Amino acid sequence: MSSALPQVREILASVRLDPVRYAIRDLAVLAEDMARQGKEILPLNIGDPVLFDFCTPPHLIEAAAQAMRDGHNGYAPSPGVGVAIEAIRANAEEEGLRNIQSIFITEGVSEAVDICLTALLGPDDNLLTPSPEYPLYSAILAKLGIQKKSYRLDEANNWEPDIEHMASRVNKNTRGLVLINPNNPTGAVYSRSTLERIAEIARRHNLVIFTDEIYEKLVLDSESHIPIATLAPDVAVVTLNGLSKACLAPGWRVGWGIVSGDAAAVRPYVEGIHKLLRARLCANHPLQYAIPAALQGPDEYLHEAVRKLRTRRDLVTAWAKKTPGVSCVPPKAAFYAFPRLDIEEDDETFVKGLLKEKNVLVVHGSGFDQPPPYRHIRIVFLPREDILQDALNRIAAYLRERAP
Ligand code: PLP
Repeated sequence: MSSALPQVREILASVRLDPVRYAIRDLAVLAEDMARQGKEILPLNIGDPVLFDFCTPPHLIEAAAQAMRDGHNGYAPSPGVGVAIEAIRANAEEEGLRNIQSIFITEGVSEAVDICLTALLGPDDNLLTPSPEYPLYSAILAKLGIQKKSYRLDEANNWEPDIEHMASRVNKNTRGLVLINPNNPTGAVYSRSTLERIAEIARRHNLVIFTDEIYEKLVLDSESHIPIATLAPDVAVVTLNGLSKACLAPGWRVGWGIVSGDAAAVRPYVEGIHKLLRARLCANHPLQYAIPAALQGPDEYLHEAVRKLRTRRDLVTAWAKKTPGVSCVPPKAAFYAFPRLDIEEDDETFVKGLLKEKNVLVVHGSGFDQPPPYRHIRIVFLPREDILQDALNRIAAYLRERAP
């Protein structure tokens, strides 16, 4: 009998995962290595307000804790608990959504996107996604083996979608389009005329609009955010939202989807969504009881969060204005700025160098599917002003040292 150990045969991951990238967390792994070596990293990479000086509102915590004390600790109904769904419906109707055909609660917007795309897309279908893009959508499409077709966000037009380009990307296999409004990574809020033109494209080609409005309540200036579903009650729209951002509870993993549109047209699709909702049992049960508190309770905490974010946004835009080699469309919402850098190297090399030499962690634009030759970085402006200013000074110094 041979005593040699059998040769290791690797268990390979699916080839479908080859295109999956999540630069935001991938870079964090590098930063964690550095932190283990004793380096203090300034993290301007992850959009989690609770990591900074923002706290989950006590009335939401109390609503969730009370639900646990009240015994809501078993499985919930698959679409979600009734009082939470009714609170979402009342809020949506108040915002002007009509023809609501289904509301369902999920483990964050992330699970809602997974379920809604899986329920819609078949092997030959394709979906329009923005470039730059929050990478969740591409990751799910890769997992499903579905082709994505990127449409351009136009930096020269305040990062609004390039409508002609979007229309030109539609073919006979296109089933839907993704809209992130307010936008991650650009901080843009889309105008009524842009939204009307997008609705018209969807109407003409019978597309489902997936509108990710998770930053809806974090608009920093006076203009308002318009949910596209309110402009197109006849078009199939899935409006996505949740507690992660404006409600300052990302770790709770609570989100939801609202399907609106013509009842007869969307019925089979809604049935598909509910089939998948049942197959995964339910979302977090007791935490769903925080939804009525979030949508109907006091919102002073939100005004306070917006006030802080506005000051921090202004700090980043002022820095971008005065720093050679940087230009930035001022973000109007959320907590992201997406400045363009005038640098020789590619943006990923820049970001890794910045991390190693200045201990500042940002994410490169190409990590958001922003194609070359552009060189952008995404800056999360959640940190306190002193920390943010320190990080911005270091980025400026790094740029200066590399200037020709
Ligand atoms: N959609 C966008 C545009 C995001 O920026 C994020 C998180 O950063 C998510 C969805 C994830 O939302 P959730 O935490 O509800 O899964």
